[in-house]
Amino acid sequence: MKLDEFAAKIRESDEIVVFTGAGISTESGIPDFRSPGGIWTRYRPVTFQEYMTSEVARIEAWKRRLDGWEQYRAAKPNVGHYFIQALSLKEKLIGLITQNVDGLHSMAGLADDKIVELHGSNRKILCMSCTKEFAPEPIINSLVGDFASPKCDSCGGILKSATVSFGQAMPEQAMRIAQGWTEQAKVFIVMGSSLQVQPAASFPVVAKRNGALLAIINREEGPLDGLADFVHNGSIGEFCGKFGEMIADG
Ligand code: NAD
Repeated sequence: MKLDEFAAKIRESDEIVVFTGAGISTESGIPDFRSPGGIWTRYRPVTFQEYMTSEVARIEAWKRRLDGWEQYRAAKPNVGHYFIQALSLKEKLIGLITQNVDGLHSMAGLADDKIVELHGSNRKILCMSCTKEFAPEPIINSLVGDFASPKCDSCGGILKSATVSFGQAMPEQAMRIAQGWTEQAKVFIVMGSSLQVQPAASFPVVAKRNGALLAIINREEGPLDGLADFVHNGSIGEFCGKFGEMIADG
């Protein structure tokens, strides 16, 4: 399908689901995982089991968080995030399913009931014993010098970012909502995901199987490009800037 056909489809559709990965936030200054210079090229992941049983692993995870902190604090939504919010304003969006934990879709003004964060959020820290919630900033600021991993001020439990680590169960409610939206979608747009992480990468396949038009916007080629009706291999920011105007003009 050509670009103008895809634009026509978006103009006429009010049952769109967008699925985002780390690639939508690189233009906000947050590195993705698998590109050169991405997080996995610099750190080994700490699994949930390691985090819960090893102080050394927890300290490693907090050091990683400290390392990315300034970048994360400075990050603002970009044209890609605003493009999705504009679809919602035009009442075209069933919902946004994201693998990202950076909270930039909310910051762009997308309502909470339009967002499913499959891998949780970095904007909250949780006690793993009593589930008390903490804002990240004071905790990060307390990590100075030769620090111990932070503990809950109510019960002494282990604190952890409210993100889903390797080896940790996917949040059930989020998965249920994402599955429902995917089955309803008439247009399913993937933006900035290498589609290598399961179960997240299965959503576009389910959408396509249910008759949705599948579009993929990603810098690199990916495993589902052959299945998609529309593929654009390039920058999300550039694409959304131009495409947003095309839809608005139509
Ligand atoms: P990924 O790193 O596996 O893939 C990102 C994809 O986006 C790559 O294929 C890359 O080519 C593409 N990309 C990068 N910048 C782009 C741009 N400006 N325009 C178009 N394409 C671009 O990321 P993923 O698929 O989301 O996978 C995995 C995991 O990464 C998820 O579990 C997620 O939780 C985690 N993660 C999240 C963040 C975040 O919240 N911002 C950052 C890093 C990793």
